[in-house]
Amino acid sequence: MNLRIPGPTPCPPEVLEAVAQPMINHRGRQFAALIQRVSERLKHFYQTKSDVFILTTSGTGGLEAAVVNTLSPGDRVLSVSIGAFGDRFAAIAESFGADVVALNYEWGKAADPDEVAKALSSDPSIKAVLVTHNETSTGVTNPLAEIARVVREREKLLLVDAISSLGSIPLYTDEWGLDVVVSGSQKGWMVPPGLAFVSMSERGWQAYESATMPRYYFDLARHRDSLSKGQTPWTPALSMFFGLDVALERLAEEGLESIFARHARLGRLTREGVRALGLTLFADERFASDTVTAVRLPEGVEDKVLRNLLEDDHGVVLAGGQGKLAGRIFRIGHLGLVSEEEIRQTLSALEVALPRAGYTLRTRA
Ligand SMILES: *Cc1c(COP(=O)(O)O)cnc(C)c1O
Repeated sequence: MNLRIPGPTPCPPEVLEAVAQPMINHRGRQFAALIQRVSERLKHFYQTKSDVFILTTSGTGGLEAAVVNTLSPGDRVLSVSIGAFGDRFAAIAESFGADVVALNYEWGKAADPDEVAKALSSDPSIKAVLVTHNETSTGVTNPLAEIARVVREREKLLLVDAISSLGSIPLYTDEWGLDVVVSGSQKGWMVPPGLAFVSMSERGWQAYESATMPRYYFDLARHRDSLSKGQTPWTPALSMFFGLDVALERLAEEGLESIFARHARLGRLTREGVRALGLTLFADERFASDTVTAVRLPEGVEDKVLRNLLEDDHGVVLAGGQGKLAGRIFRIGHLGLVSEEEIRQTLSALEVALPRAGYTLRTRA
């Protein structure tokens, strides 16, 4: 099966073997060594000196942790949203009582750092900014370094959803001045779903001191105390830790810059291949993501028909559109364990399946 969705991504065989290992004492020495090893490795991938906490939850739980550990009900928060996951981040903050000011962009577009600056300048009461680095629902990567610069200049807290970007495309937590950065095991990390990663800056910890949103399971101070003893406050998803250990070793062998270069190459290859089939990209091309490509469904082609054909006849699994994009786009994931060969196979499968789904190929000469 060529699983080309933007998470869960395929896992290397050695990761799958690792997750099948027998249980160990999660309060014992073996686990202490394991959590210390993977936490250190994660700090490298995050490019941060701060702790990176590993929570047993999906990515959304990590986003909730970012919110409840830094904010109080009534806090004014700027939500910079360019798609479904940006909207989700805002909805979490709203659920816990934040006063959310929305800076929403047309789906397919990236956020404009100048407009973020303007929004912050026009409302000095804003305390924090929520932003998605890579919007998986639209295939757009925000100019995060530039957005971070304007947020830093105005001394606001910056909470980042980097779930489908970290470990795949460039993100430099400390250098860019990101306060809370969230990722999830089932995206570029090549591990099954079940773990979220959260880094917290010094500024984040200062905000923690006065933050009064309700928190218990995701209370990061509990995680910090436990981590210093080589533990987690609650029973961790041990099997996923076993898998993460092996996956991070493999990623470390490849090296950060090589990983970034591979994803850049695969992103380009996917976009070129899609265009060569006469299809139209959904994302503004200047900000097209190197981890997921969103493609407009051509006139007359039904989403389900196309994707079922791809799966049944070619073993290629693509993702549909989310929310208002359901039935209007399909998405190709190219993050984590993926080769050029798998992208080529995906494109060839599309070339065969599209006409069968009712599309007239207008291949470029
Ligand atoms: C996958 C994803 C999420 C949600 O993660 P879950 O693990 O499904 O909770 C949030 N944000 C982005 C950008 C994602 O790609």
